[in-house]
Amino acid sequence: SILFLGDLMVGYGEFLENNRMLVPSGFVEEWWGQLLIEKLAAPQSASPVSSISISSERLQTLATNPLSTRPNAKEATEVSTKLGIPLHPSYTFFWDLIKPEELEYLRERIRAFSRTTEETILIPDDAKIKSLLERLCLPHRVEGGSLRIMEAETVILRSLFKPEAQEWLAVGSTTLERLSSLAGFPVKSKSPNYVGARMGRPEKAKERVMTPKVHCLFPTGQFGGTRRDIVEASKKLAVSLEVVDRSCPNCDTWEPRVKCPACGGLTVERFSCPRCGLLGPGVCKNCNVETVAYKNSPLDLSRILEEAGKRLGLGKIPDSVKGAKGLLNRTKTPEPVEKGLLRARTDVSIFKDGTIRFDSTNAILTHFRPGEVGLSIEKAHAIGYEKDMDEKPLVTPSQLCALEVQDLIVPEACGEYLLKASKFLDDLLSSYYRLDRFYNATKREDLIGRLVVGLSPHTSVGVVGRIVGFTKASVCYAHPFWHAAKRRDCDGASKSFRGCTPSAQYRDRVPTSSRVLREDMAGCASERGRESSSDPEQASGRRSLEHWFHASNRGPRPWPVDQLLQGATDHA
Ligand SMILES: [Zn+2]
Ligand SMILES: [Zn+2]
Repeated sequence: SILFLGDLMVGYGEFLENNRMLVPSGFVEEWWGQLLIEKLAAPQSASPVSSISISSERLQTLATNPLSTRPNAKEATEVSTKLGIPLHPSYTFFWDLIKPEELEYLRERIRAFSRTTEETILIPDDAKIKSLLERLCLPHRVEGGSLRIMEAETVILRSLFKPEAQEWLAVGSTTLERLSSLAGFPVKSKSPNYVGARMGRPEKAKERVMTPKVHCLFPTGQFGGTRRDIVEASKKLAVSLEVVDRSCPNCDTWEPRVKCPACGGLTVERFSCPRCGLLGPGVCKNCNVETVAYKNSPLDLSRILEEAGKRLGLGKIPDSVKGAKGLLNRTKTPEPVEKGLLRARTDVSIFKDGTIRFDSTNAILTHFRPGEVGLSIEKAHAIGYEKDMDEKPLVTPSQLCALEVQDLIVPEACGEYLLKASKFLDDLLSSYYRLDRFYNATKREDLIGRLVVGLSPHTSVGVVGRIVGFTKASVCYAHPFWHAAKRRDCDGASKSFRGCTPSAQYRDRVPTSSRVLREDMAGCASERGRESSSDPEQASGRRSLEHWFHASNRGPRPWPVDQLLQGATDHA
């Protein structure tokens, strides 16, 4: 059975943050080292250090490197006996877990079976002594019907219990007090506090989807069935949905975008009273309620789908395009259905703010080998890893490199999903916005060097990261600084990250994180302009997050972000 799970270091901040009283520390090596330093610094004449058989160099080493050097059992007892400092933690057992009577029983057994000619003690096994030794975590071996206490522990127990002495001179009420008085030097508590522990949450990684999946923020109401399928709804006769009341005056058709895709004219939004239907902005004269920009309108979904497919140049409408039940935005403006067609085609699902996300557990990483994350040497050089952690030129994939603070190693499944997301974004850029494709990725590795945005629950900022490789583990490895920037620790909580969708239509309505999205695109911008850049830092590709943000504010952007947003508004 497992007797002890080990020590846990708890920082002061945990107590401060949770407003708890500090609890005393167990007696640890550093504490022992400090007490020894104090003794060694005492004036030479009065110091008992001179009577000790251990060399002063050895004592200095023990005192100043308490975590890396450990006294042997003889040294430990001599230091305690001669200098009066508590017994070294390595030889201190969990004495406060046994009762004073049990201490007495243990001493009796040791007195009875300790032979001064032997270097170990062999005690007959019985349930009481076995349980005692186990609770103390005192190392011993079971040999037939006996328990053998080995050399080091024998030295310690003899020094504590003095089996040759006849009298039981222990005074005090607690086990530790009695043991200290018996030993003639202090024995401290090694584990004054226990905390329950459990296994950490198992790692996980999967795309963040709404159930059921959503390809488009477009309502289906009662018509799309349980699957909220826009294609299914389009087959129904007389579909009427609660959507924004906006139409093109030239074409006399419902059109949720600002600009009519058919004639290019501006569309007009109409406000009406949700109770009596009276038209006009502001407050309804009859009902004294705010008028709204939406109403239940009959829609010809099959025509809308067909025209959208035609505008995108799609040969065939996907069999199923999942919409939402209803819309939550103030004016109930749906997304252009084109986006839904493209998402359904590439099989990416969106979150309720229209973003494409992937959830994974945080894990920290400071060093990696390019060969282990699918990063080729050429690609490593291209993204700025020219040297290994020892500043030697990076020439083989097995060299260990220090991970840059903004860089991520994401799960392979995440890579596959982001690959689909990149295809969707490229399709959207080319066939909807009529711009150049940006990612042109055909395999997971093509996404190395690309930017993503890391998000954490309950925080409203995203943190830009750069993919440098992939892992089979279901975790997102990143530098501790990156996780800290997302205000996350790495205790099993998950975060999500996403690619960028230029959804200008929603920019004033969705949370702050979409603003970061635009920063992300600006980051892409500076990356795009890199080839022609003469800035050596930029040319090397090695850049900090700060650099990305500076770069995005510097001069004209090669990536037409403003045009893009303008274009989006035009279409919207
Ligand atoms: Zn029109
Ligand atoms: Zn009214």
